Amino acid sequence: MPILIDEKTCLAGCTICDFFCPGDIIWRESREKAPEVKYPDECWYCGACEDHCPVDAVKVVFPPEMLDCQTPVETLMGLPARRPA
Ligand code: SF4
Ligand code: SF4
Repeated sequence: MPILIDEKTCLAGCTICDFFCPGDIIWRESREKAPEVKYPDECWYCGACEDHCPVDAVKVVFPPEMLDCQTPVETLMGLPARRPA
C-alpha cells in the first residue's frame, strides 16, 4: 500500500487528502470513516496527502525499489551521464 492512513488519528470527514490527491487515489466513502486508498497501483508517491493532512494521519510508504534506486539521476531525467572526475 503506497500510503497508510491512521484511522484513529484521522478526522474522517475533513477530506483534505482526497481533495489534494492529483490521481484521485483516495476515496471518502462516508463522513464517519477515514478515507480509503482506492487505487493504490496508481499512486505517484507525490506526498500531497501526507503534506496536507492537518493531523499527520497519512504516511507515504515508499517501496524498497524506489528507496534503493541505483539509476543515476541524469538518466532518469534523460540527460547524458556524468563522467567520473
Ligand atoms: S502520494 Fe500523491 S498520488 Fe499518492 S495517494 Fe498521496 S496524494 Fe495521491
Ligand atoms: S487529510 Fe488526514 S484527517 Fe483529513 S481525511 Fe485525510 S487522513 Fe483524515
